[in-house]
Amino acid sequence: MEKVEDDLLRQKLFWEAYYGVAVPATDEDRDKALKSLKPVTTIEKANAIVHRKLWEIRNIKKEETDPQLTLKPDLSKTCTKTKTFKYHHTGVWMHFEFKDKDSGKIKSEDGWSCCMNIDKESDGCVKTVVDKERWILSSYT
Ligand SMILES: [Zn+2]
Repeated sequence: MEKVEDDLLRQKLFWEAYYGVAVPATDEDRDKALKSLKPVTTIEKANAIVHRKLWEIRNIKKEETDPQLTLKPDLSKTCTKTKTFKYHHTGVWMHFEFKDKDSGKIKSEDGWSCCMNIDKESDGCVKTVVDKERWILSSYT
């Protein structure tokens, strides 16, 4: 940033912070305004605001955003899924005969004895976790 531009920007920011208005365009208007205007804050506070805004203009806008900074890291290589599930029935596939509640007739159906599931090829009512990364703590001793 050039020196003249920097001074103009500083003056603009100071007027906005100290007097609460934009800088008048001509020197005559500026002199008139200086006689009538009253500051809205202290000069120290106005200087601090100007300093902060200049710092933000110089530093924050120049920061380039990193396209890889998504805050959503790719965990597919590190966090692999090693857990799988196994399903099985604890009962047996058998023939059932039962009285229908509504019609009173005797009905028959094949099903698993553990969960009364009538689908023979169903996954199973007992679900067990198979974790390949789990430590095996049992030993032969
Ligand atoms: Zn079952």
